[in-house]
Amino acid sequence: MNIQYNIQLKPYNSFRTQAHAKLFCEPESVAELSDILKKYPDEKKLVLGGGFNLFFTKDFDGLIIHPAMKGFNIWYEDTNLIEIEVSASTNWDDFVEFCVDNHYAGIENLSLIPSTVGAAPVQNIGAYGTEVKEVITLVRTVDIRTGEPKDFTNKMCYFEYRDSFFKRTGNHIITSVVFRLKKLFTYKEKYIDLTNELKNNKYPTLREVRDAIVRIRTRKMPDYDTLPNAGSFFKNPYLTYEQKEKLIRLLPNATIHHVNENCFKTSSAFLIDKAGYKNKRSGMVGTYEHHSLIIVNYGTEQGKDIVNFMEQIQHTVHSQFNIWLEPEVRVY
Ligand SMILES: Cc1cc2nc3c(=O)[nH]c(=O)nc-3n(C[C@H](O)[C@H](O)[C@H](O)COP(=O)(O)OP(=O)(O)OC[C@H]3O[C@@H](n4cnc5c(N)ncnc54)[C@H](O)[C@@H]3O)c2cc1C
Repeated sequence: MNIQYNIQLKPYNSFRTQAHAKLFCEPESVAELSDILKKYPDEKKLVLGGGFNLFFTKDFDGLIIHPAMKGFNIWYEDTNLIEIEVSASTNWDDFVEFCVDNHYAGIENLSLIPSTVGAAPVQNIGAYGTEVKEVITLVRTVDIRTGEPKDFTNKMCYFEYRDSFFKRTGNHIITSVVFRLKKLFTYKEKYIDLTNELKNNKYPTLREVRDAIVRIRTRKMPDYDTLPNAGSFFKNPYLTYEQKEKLIRLLPNATIHHVNENCFKTSSAFLIDKAGYKNKRSGMVGTYEHHSLIIVNYGTEQGKDIVNFMEQIQHTVHSQFNIWLEPEVRVY
């Protein structure tokens, strides 16, 4: 298989920061991937999907693996459900469109999330009250250390909010994912924006739900081709009881979600706004005018500029509200 040298990574990350990879490969099958891993046991490695959730601050002195396996397989089908195995490099939204076209329900709320199928389980992509973990039955991988295949059942993936076993360990390359989707669709109200967009149509079709989400996202999200970004930059923070009480004293109208007795969640976007970072720009980096959680790149190629802006936000929010915002986006 073809190994490329000294590859420019700017086209491979949606923040469009520049860096070079010493080695770069695009395995088209599990066998090719295993071979390459066995051939380069000592190189540092990074798996790269669409690059929509990461950016580079320096050259990568190792091997970048950009999975290129394509296609899908139907594993099981009856009148109520279908199980489909989908290859890692498949564009996520093409898969959602395929499902909606064929009346397979379960991922329509995840329409237009920029992702490859292989990356979807890594941070358990989610939107509009749905997370991808709800429809995954199996994740098929190759161990990055040995080149040996290993399958993970849903339980073995330890999915959490924007997190999974794969994100925490980074030891497995996802080669395909098996999804279980329903053939019968009944709309469940989960999200106020979506209900409004559907104009209180209580029985929308799968297609109507997808179209509504595509319209909302197109209005709310910056286009990464014209304004490079990586979507929501920070995770929404979890708070202890004490942090929650302190926050309410400082910001009485803060949104608080009760997770359990000593665990609460609040909105990063709200904290960023209150810390004075609403539509704020510093040099070539800033927060998006319609959504403070999205950091946008106005023209720098240097990942360090984005890191500096990220740290400014973290320190300001921390000094004002005693809450540390963790990035959702990966920095390399
Ligand atoms: C405009 C915009 C909107 C977004 N909206 C949302 C949203 O609503 N909800 C949401 O959850 N996310 C959202 N995101 C984030 C992004 O869409 C997801 O994180 C997506 O899964 C990234 O996919 P990717 O293929 O680009 O992965 P990459 O960014 O290339 O990689 C992300 C991580 O996954 C690892 N990885 C990638 N592929 C594999 C693989 N095959 N095997 C093992 N590890 C792998 C990488 O090493 C890296 O650590 C948004 C991003 C943008 C730019």
